[in-house]
Parts: sequence; structure tokens; C-alpha cells
Amino acid sequence: MSTPPSPRSVSSQSSEVTVVANDIRSLCRDVREREMLRRHVSFRIGGPADVLVLPRSVDELRTAVSWLFSHDVPFTILGQGSNVLIADAGIRGIVIKIGKGLDRFSFEKTRLVAEAGVGLPHLARAAATKGLAGLEFAAGIPASLGGAVVMNAGAHGHAMSEVVREVRVLTPDGEQILGPPDLGFGYRTTVLQQRRAVVLEATVELTQSDPVSVRGRTDEWLQHRSDTQPIGPPSSGCIFRNPQGDHAGRLIDLAGAKGLALGGARVSEVHANYILNTGEATAADVLGLIHKVSGVVAEKFGVRLEPEIKLLGEFSQAN
Ligand SMILES: Cc1cc2nc3c(=O)[nH]c(=O)nc-3n(C[C@H](O)[C@H](O)[C@H](O)COP(=O)(O)OP(=O)(O)OC[C@H]3O[C@@H](n4cnc5c(N)ncnc54)[C@H](O)[C@@H]3O)c2cc1C
Repeated sequence: MSTPPSPRSVSSQSSEVTVVANDIRSLCRDVREREMLRRHVSFRIGGPADVLVLPRSVDELRTAVSWLFSHDVPFTILGQGSNVLIADAGIRGIVIKIGKGLDRFSFEKTRLVAEAGVGLPHLARAAATKGLAGLEFAAGIPASLGGAVVMNAGAHGHAMSEVVREVRVLTPDGEQILGPPDLGFGYRTTVLQQRRAVVLEATVELTQSDPVSVRGRTDEWLQHRSDTQPIGPPSSGCIFRNPQGDHAGRLIDLAGAKGLALGGARVSEVHANYILNTGEATAADVLGLIHKVSGVVAEKFGVRLEPEIKLLGEFSQAN
């Protein structure tokens, strides 16, 4: 790792972006300018990042983020990009994608310690092979571990909050280890969504069982997923949070909004809480369809649906 550039004041204005990119290049090997973000997210939608940083190790991530914090340069974090809608105009300033290169993990008896970029399905399979129970619900969630912690991802009545014991985060005040009481787990949320904190690593506690039953449960839930959710066209999973005591998909279906379309975006016929990119959808199409669907549901049931996906980047006022 090379020596960090000497501290100086940097703003996130576009005129400074190339200068910042060059500084970050001395810390991370893979730094790209004007990289289209649609290549890095599951929806396959989104314009360019001024600067996209792809750290190849926890050390690179740590050094780059510490430098950005110390220079007060704002940045956006992406994991696998499976719960985001990125604006057509893209994201100004720095985007850091955490994935490949931050994918080491190890087991210590029933404890699994893993870096933030490792894929959740990969971890779930590795745990199943060892007969460790607790992550079966996660085998079909296309997340990075970091993104899954931040979102408190879940399925089949289970969620990350049940298994996460410790999370190592980098903050403007340095590195911290957070336990469940600090993380404020709730339905698809944690306090990390409001804090300037980057997840570096997490520790998950599993239960010793046997490979056959863990694999059996995993396969059953994967089968249920492929029977009830659209497979194929790009999406960001469920678009709306489930309202208290109900399912957004059920309300959208009953409101007759299945199949509703705008431009290249269409409400799935298989699962009404999915919006699909049928090929050439723009973020404006998806956002317009989100407004349309929530309007129909509000009119029919008086329920205001809230998006589960994170809107990132520059959305125009017209949206
Ligand atoms: C086909 C499909 C099926 C899905 N099924 C499910 C499901 O069953 N259950 C479910 O809960 N979700 C589901 N999702 C949504 C998505 O997989 C989850 O929300 C997942 O947790 C997002 O992880 P990610 O790594 O892609 O994060 P991203 O989408 O990249 O980011 C999500 C948020 O987390 C932040 N973030 C990501 N990584 C870090 C980090 N290391 N440090 C700090 N902040 C970070 C980002 O800034 C962003 O705000 C599905 C998505 C798809 C496309």
C-alpha cells in the first residue's frame, strides 16, 4: 500500500473530481472515471459515477475511506447494488463499490467472520456444507454481506438481526465494533442507514446442525422463491416496504396494478411488488411507475406505500 497523499482541503465540486480521483488512485488500484453504474447494479439502470472506486482489499477500502473522511469528501457506498435505483444522471462525486476483493471469510466453530463484500448466497452455501444452521433464509438474497447487514435483509420470516453478533465499521471517528444493541435492527433497517459508517466485516453466529437438514431447508426456500418471484428480467427485488400487518404485493395485486407499465418498466405479473426492467427502462420510468402504483394503492386502500429501495444520485425535480 502506498503512502496516503498529504492532507489538504478537497471539495466534491466537479472541477475537483479529477484531482480527488488521482489522489485516490495512489491508494486504490481500480479507480474509474465516468463509469456507467448500470453495469454494477441488479436493475441494470443508472448513469455514470464521476469516480467509481473498486477496492481490492479491506486495506484499500480502509485507506480510501479514511482519506475521504479526513478530507471531508462525501461519497456513496454500493454493495452488490441489488436494492438501489440509480438516477439516469448518475451520481456526482465518489462512489465506492464493495465486492470482489473483500470476499474472505472463515469459520471459528459456529462463528462465521466475513468481509463486507462476500456474497450472502455464497456464505449461506458454505454454512450449509458445514451443517451450520441460521443462514438458510439468505441463500436466495443477492446481497453483499455489508449490504445485507445495513438493510437487515430477510426472507421466510427470518432476518440478519437473528444471526449478526458483531459488525466492524469505519466511521469519521475511526474503526468501531458494533453489537446488536448499537445497530438498531428493525424491519429492513438499521441505524447504519443514517450514519456515516462503512461496514468492513461482520461476525455471524450459527447453530450446529447437520448438512442434510440445513441443505434441505435451503433448497425448499430456494424452490419457493423461484415459484413465487420473477426470475430473469433485471430488478431490485421488492420495491415497497410491507405496510404494518400486510403485504405490499397483495395490495398492488388487488388494486389491479399487476402488469402496469411505464416506458421500459413494468410491474411483474408473477410478484406485484417487483418492478422489472424489460430492456430499456430508465430510472425516470421506474420512479414514475412507483408513483403510479403507490397512487393506485392509496386511492383504493388509503395505504401509503413507502419504497424499500434506496434512490441514489441526481433525480430531477420533475421526477
Ligand atoms: C431478485 C432480488 C431478490 C431480492 N430478495 C430479497 C429478499 O428476499 N429479502 C431482502 O431483504 N432483500 C431482497 N432483495 C434486495 C437486496 O438484495 C437486499 O436489500 C440486500 O441487502 C442489498 O444488498 P447489496 O449488497 O446489494 O446492497 P446495495 O443495494 O448495494 O446497498 C443497499 C444500501 O446499503 C448500503 N451499503 C451497502 N454496502 C454497505 C457497506 N459495506 N457499508 C455501508 N453501507 C453499505 C448502500 O449505501 C445502500 O444504502 C432482493 C433483490 C433482488 C434484485
